[in-house]
Amino acid sequence: LLLLALVSLAVPSFSVAQQPTRAIAITVDDLPAVSLRRDVATHAAITRGILDAFRRYGVPAIGFVNESKLADGDRIDSARVALLRAWLDAGMQLGNHSYSHPDLHGVPLEQYEDDVLRGERVTRSLLAERGLEPRWFRHPFLHTGTDLDTKRRFERFLDEHGYRVAPVTFDNYDFIFARVYERTVESGDRGTAQRVADAYVAYMDSVVGYYEAQSRTLFGTEPAQVLLLHANRLNADHVGRVLESLVRRGYRFVTIDEALRDPAYSQPDEYIGAGGITWLHRWALTAGKRGAVFAGEPTVPEWIATRFEGR
Ligand SMILES: [Zn+2]
Repeated sequence: LLLLALVSLAVPSFSVAQQPTRAIAITVDDLPAVSLRRDVATHAAITRGILDAFRRYGVPAIGFVNESKLADGDRIDSARVALLRAWLDAGMQLGNHSYSHPDLHGVPLEQYEDDVLRGERVTRSLLAERGLEPRWFRHPFLHTGTDLDTKRRFERFLDEHGYRVAPVTFDNYDFIFARVYERTVESGDRGTAQRVADAYVAYMDSVVGYYEAQSRTLFGTEPAQVLLLHANRLNADHVGRVLESLVRRGYRFVTIDEALRDPAYSQPDEYIGAGGITWLHRWALTAGKRGAVFAGEPTVPEWIATRFEGR
């Protein structure tokens, strides 16, 4: 009897998921979708796959829209707008990722700002139906300016238009895996597609582990994190596995608003490098940290990188 009692006591500690001790906001760029095929059915399937996984895991995500992808010639394709509405219906937020995904490091600021305003028309009206307004902006390529004047002028512009910058702490190369995955699926090679997906899930887990360690090394603590993903076929089919490994690491899923209440996000960011890097490193560089402390970021496996560059 005693033995039985011990066993029954012991079972829950193995079967009940770990109490969440970490927090993460999930953000998805390039809505409604980014794929080799641009037809509505493909984009609808991607939307459905991602939102199903988010519902299953109770993820209050935000999607960042490129409204140029809603256009069909001169008119706006209502079937594509419906994909954005599906995000809101699923309880997700929508943010602005510019109209046509320009590079702040490659076009004049005024032109970039025009593109940002052009990029909110549909989203603003969808949000208005629900008494909401766009509040979050995500820089394409995470390029935030290569001089402090441009960076600050654009931040003021965002502020004047009611936007706040959506930073990223868990940056990664999901789009490289995604391109290879989609091509492989299209070619009918399910076996290799599965291996690409498995490599992606393992890679993402190592990326998360790396940035957790970076957080502790650089700041002595792990802030509420912000993960960047893209709205692609790979995530439509496999993001549930990425979410599952986050749960296993003790994460609970929070809104971007909640994540950014973490004091980490009020640290100064004067980063003006050319690379679209994690905010963890922007804060650390601004604080004067340099060198080997940043080393060790997981790389994309060679066989995936080769296939990515292959065509
Ligand atoms: Zn993007």
